[in-house]
Amino acid sequence: MKYVAIVMVMALASCGGGGSGADTISRGGLVATKLGSVPGPGGCGVSNAYRVTEAAGVRLTQAATINRKTAERLDGWLRNHAIPIIGNRGGGLTGIQVAAHYACRSRNSRKGARLSEHAKGNAIDISAFILADGTRITVLGWRGRDGKMLKRLHASACGPFGTVLGPEADRHHQDHFHFDTADYRSGSYCR
Ligand SMILES: [Zn+2]
Repeated sequence: MKYVAIVMVMALASCGGGGSGADTISRGGLVATKLGSVPGPGGCGVSNAYRVTEAAGVRLTQAATINRKTAERLDGWLRNHAIPIIGNRGGGLTGIQVAAHYACRSRNSRKGARLSEHAKGNAIDISAFILADGTRITVLGWRGRDGKMLKRLHASACGPFGTVLGPEADRHHQDHFHFDTADYRSGSYCR
């Protein structure tokens, strides 16, 4: 076996910005296989890459290749924000639908555009939140009855993630949230 599966138990520093998160210690629930360095053409590729199948005990519908920082932020955001926001609705949050993770492509897959954070393993796209009873809260429902909860989820990711994009951002983000951990001197960009 090429890779050694490990369960990462990491100290998580919930980032400021959102204001509601305190520093917490992870009690596990982040299940990830260490990939190390994932090579890619041009500027693509992921260093310190992990293949994440579960974060904060929440199952990912497809394994996500992301770097360690992004894995930690996802784990912390789910634990400190998404799980409490969803609360007991439908028996609680058990899964997230992963629409995209590592991909060697430009922003919004447009020719000539800058390289996407997905191309560096800094980003994950989430299209739905899956509850214990099978209910799916989809980002497409932004303007529907789940809108209030989706807006809370979106806002809570601002801070833990440096860039948060959703249906208000542009036409490319009508059906998913884009979260990435790229650092900007000006602080988080959330829309
Ligand atoms: Zn994205």
